[in-house]
Amino acid sequence: MKSQARVVIVGGGVMGVGLLYHLALEGWTDIALVEKGELTSGSTWHAAGQCPHFNGSLNMTKVHIYGTELYPKLEQLTGQAVSWHGCGGLRLAVTDEEVNWFKYVYGVSRLAGYECELIGPDEIKKHHPFLDPFGVKLAFRTVHDGHVAPADITNAMAAGARKLGAEIYRRTRVTDIKQIPSGEWRVFTDKGNIDCEHVVNSAGSYCDVVGAWTGHNVPIANMLHHYVITEPLQELIDLAPELPVVRDPHAHAYLREETNGVLVGLYETATAHVCWDGKPPRWDYESELEPPELDRLIPWLERATERLPLFAKTGIKSIVAGAITHTPDGTYLSGPAPGPRNYWMHCGASIGICQGGGAGKYLAQWMVHGQAEINMREFDPRRFGNWATKDYTADVSVADYHHMYYCYKPAEQHEVGRGLRKSALYDRLKSEGAQFAQIFGWERPRWYDTSGTGEKFSFRRSNWWGAVREEALAVREKVGLMDLSTFSKYDVKGKDAHAFLDRICANRIPTKDGGIILGHLLNANGFIESEITVTRLGPEHYYVLSAAVAQLHDLDQMNWRKKPGEKVTITDITDDLGVLVLAGPKSRDVLAACTKTDLSNAAFRWLTAREATVAGVKGIRLLRMNYVGELGWELHVPMASMPKVFDALMAAGKAHGIRLFGTYAMNSLRMEKAYRGWGSELTNEIGMSEASMERFIRLDKEDFIGKQASLGMKQRGDRLKLVYMEVNNTDSDCMGNEPVYHGDKVVGVTTSGAFGHTVNKSLTFAYVDPAMTAPGSEFEVLVFNERRKARIIPESAFDAENARPRA
Ligand SMILES: Cc1cc2nc3c(=O)[nH]c(=O)nc-3n(C[C@H](O)[C@H](O)[C@H](O)COP(=O)(O)OP(=O)(O)OC[C@H]3O[C@@H](n4cnc5c(N)ncnc54)[C@H](O)[C@@H]3O)c2cc1C
Repeated sequence: MKSQARVVIVGGGVMGVGLLYHLALEGWTDIALVEKGELTSGSTWHAAGQCPHFNGSLNMTKVHIYGTELYPKLEQLTGQAVSWHGCGGLRLAVTDEEVNWFKYVYGVSRLAGYECELIGPDEIKKHHPFLDPFGVKLAFRTVHDGHVAPADITNAMAAGARKLGAEIYRRTRVTDIKQIPSGEWRVFTDKGNIDCEHVVNSAGSYCDVVGAWTGHNVPIANMLHHYVITEPLQELIDLAPELPVVRDPHAHAYLREETNGVLVGLYETATAHVCWDGKPPRWDYESELEPPELDRLIPWLERATERLPLFAKTGIKSIVAGAITHTPDGTYLSGPAPGPRNYWMHCGASIGICQGGGAGKYLAQWMVHGQAEINMREFDPRRFGNWATKDYTADVSVADYHHMYYCYKPAEQHEVGRGLRKSALYDRLKSEGAQFAQIFGWERPRWYDTSGTGEKFSFRRSNWWGAVREEALAVREKVGLMDLSTFSKYDVKGKDAHAFLDRICANRIPTKDGGIILGHLLNANGFIESEITVTRLGPEHYYVLSAAVAQLHDLDQMNWRKKPGEKVTITDITDDLGVLVLAGPKSRDVLAACTKTDLSNAAFRWLTAREATVAGVKGIRLLRMNYVGELGWELHVPMASMPKVFDALMAAGKAHGIRLFGTYAMNSLRMEKAYRGWGSELTNEIGMSEASMERFIRLDKEDFIGKQASLGMKQRGDRLKLVYMEVNNTDSDCMGNEPVYHGDKVVGVTTSGAFGHTVNKSLTFAYVDPAMTAPGSEFEVLVFNERRKARIIPESAFDAENARPRA
């Protein structure tokens, strides 16, 4: 066994082996995988092996497509036999909202480029003669879906990796992992130790145990999942070709052919639970199954029989019950763990057979090249903080399992696992009708419902529409107040704080106390990793803000860029301060009634900050900026004093018609101002010029991370360009990832959208071919499978002169 390697992967399931193979393909061959039993002996061996394309996320769709294209070729690539069944798939919609969802996903399919069609219930029999289409409103037919023996693909990728030089140690258990003084990782096993630059946790059902050795919180639950297989049926023996895999929300089941019988896998809606009472499996647990829990399956098997009467014609031959890893959002964890560099997570997959190939490819790219060709944000393990406790993870995973065949509408979230992080205003806002969304554990108001009915979740504009319009117009015409305590907040202090921030940001860092800038942290390839605002509170004290979900990500981005010996400390103070956004033409009057600080333009300019006393509370950081394009201030208030300040502002605002507003209104207002969003317009696939953010990158600065690459990009020219458009939408707005057409050609993709209530326009951002960005250029956007006319607007739809914020 090696004692030194560039990478050690812990775990030889489809995820670990998929990564090993793709690292080797990327040219990293000094790599080893350690497996305590045999390859696949965790969850992988007993999986049903389905590989679908249908997915609402464009990035995840790319992961799926890669697998379904790779697996049929693996035998040829590696010499190891692989039994790929390319039988296609049929996903059924039985509600109107599912129909909306399918139409949205169809748009995603046009961008991703896989073969599919939307078909009516009367066409189903043509593709599946045994299916009863009762209640079906629409079906999503995918031509190249399939299923595969999980051990075949894992062993083939292992063979391919070995051929390229990777080593696999079977029957070797990793017993501990520690970081050693050199910064490398020491992987302790029962057969000796290996020191490595990178360590990867691919330990499947044990990944939380393995993570705990290094203090990492890995939010996974092991869920018990079943499928059954019948005896062979003559009808299927006589039939060729193989039937498509069916996914049916009526039965909450997948149904397919297996060795001339029927295989039915079930996601029960009320009785699911975690395996092993939430404890990890025994270390000697290997290629085992769990005792089946038939009682909980029976109602769903009956429903499966209603959908596929053939299923009842013969007896059940076998039942498979096994552990499936699950994360709270149902998406696997792949990327750097928070904290010290080069500890990677690659685990938590519940559709790992389908995803193992693509997940491995894109993480290998990230490890080798510093980024993947797709946006990895939705896979990044740092989307969960320590607030994602064991209990939270179990509760939400059970709920997610129950809802596997439920159609979540935009903004709809689980009701369990809530209230983990609350601002001190939570109860006050709730009593005002706040409809909360959970974001990085926080509860953040989306909008205020004064009717008491709650949000009717839909893909289309719904019952929030009127209230959000009033909130947005109140901000434009009078004054609005928003609790945005969810911001991630850091104090950056020290003798080298200025030089450090100047080196990591593309923009120039303020040289005068009170100055504020918008800054971007680029990676070495010149792509956008983070968006922050930097406020200079003193020569050695900077206040950095970023998105709620970026709390761990941006802390890492800053820590990882620190040079040895640099005198700078970065402290995460997110929970210490609450944030109130006071915005609108009357905001100066309202704030002036609560503070003695001079708020006049002469004394307190736009994009400046100072400490102030408001409502008797000292030490409030007052920042004259906002994300809605209005006169206004952000008040960064010690969390315990938030109620006092809030009450004072609301009382002073009464005479001016103050109104609470939430993130729906904020999104509408920022779209009117053409403000880009981190994670939608600004991602690590995009350069600053492509995002039309040239004014925030100072290529004349001596140096900053990403400068050389940005200069190179400038020379090469943009690959795509962000445009801002009005769209002829009627009852819905763009959500992002809708295809943009020019004639019959897809020439771009939307990134986000909203209705601008002041300008009465449905607005969207999109990346398109740079040759097509002339103002006034016309396109069509596919919104719920309808072509909507769209036209480029040259500047922000509202207040293009930017007079409002400077008023
Ligand atoms: C009944 C059932 C049906 C399924 N059907 C499908 C399907 O149709 N399609 C699909 O895509 N997915 C399906 N899945 C899900 C799929 O099985 C998992 O997502 C996938 O196998 C996860 O792979 P993994 O590599 O993360 O984990 P695993 O396969 O569990 O691999 C982890 C490995 O790590 C090893 N290990 C752990 N700790 C250590 C240590 N300390 N030292 C050394 N080795 C260690 C374990 O022995 C194990 O081999 C199904 C799952 C179940 C249970």
